[in-house]
Amino acid sequence: MPGIRVAIACFFAALFLYSPALCAGGKIDFNFKGAFHQGGLVTGKAPAGSTLHFEGRALRISRAGAFVIAFGRNAKADADLAYRLADGSEGVRHLTIASRDFPTEKINGLAADKVTPDAARMARIRAEGALLAKARRGDHDEAFFVNGFSWPVLGRISGVYGSQRILNGVRRSPHSGTDIAAPRGTPVTAPADGIVALRHLDMFFTGQTLVLDHGHGLFTVYAHLDRIDVGEGARVKKGDPIAIIGATGRATAPHLHWGISWFGIALDPQSAAGAMPATTPPITKAR
Ligand SMILES: [Zn+2]
Repeated sequence: MPGIRVAIACFFAALFLYSPALCAGGKIDFNFKGAFHQGGLVTGKAPAGSTLHFEGRALRISRAGAFVIAFGRNAKADADLAYRLADGSEGVRHLTIASRDFPTEKINGLAADKVTPDAARMARIRAEGALLAKARRGDHDEAFFVNGFSWPVLGRISGVYGSQRILNGVRRSPHSGTDIAAPRGTPVTAPADGIVALRHLDMFFTGQTLVLDHGHGLFTVYAHLDRIDVGEGARVKKGDPIAIIGATGRATAPHLHWGISWFGIALDPQSAAGAMPATTPPITKAR
């Protein structure tokens, strides 16, 4: 438990007024990029030869020093990044994670089998959930994410991350990604370099589904596709066309469900990609 060791070291350091700044991590510039809020994805650069632990998890650090930390939808207000430098000195950077208000969506009058699937369907849904979880379990050592994430398609945001859906009065799990409405056939491009981790042509909820591995536990998922243009194991570059928009699976109109996860923790794609660039002409078509 490096955190406890560091806390004890800092306690004595504070007693003797010895280098308290190091205990707060104030001397090290981790060059953080990203949002310190619930659902946020942050990348950083560690000094050569250092090791990092974030909330007890040993972080992978690339040869160039790149690393990832991220905060789930219900992340606590504070988190600790413990570090040990090449010279053996240790410290902790205390991070403050801003909380967010997520909208609640109540939808009533849905067909009962859409809300509570029968036993056979439940078995299929569970099996597909396990496939998706397995595809996103990796921890590839290449830092494909270092150049950030761009939008895989431009269009109207028709569903936001974290919203709580209550269908016919039944509370479902929060929305795990961002929905972007666009006409069927619109190309979807890779938001960052990566490797195709899963290509599935018929999932109950997500229809034609694609998963990309961006390294260090970061994955993106693309759902409701009309066609997938890349095979499992293929390497893609940021901006490469990978699929086209559709409405397969449980979708009422063509849109992309885009998700980002870090070791299975769903993050906010909108937060990772930043403001969507303006489209010309403006997309006004309703979903
Ligand atoms: Zn969605």
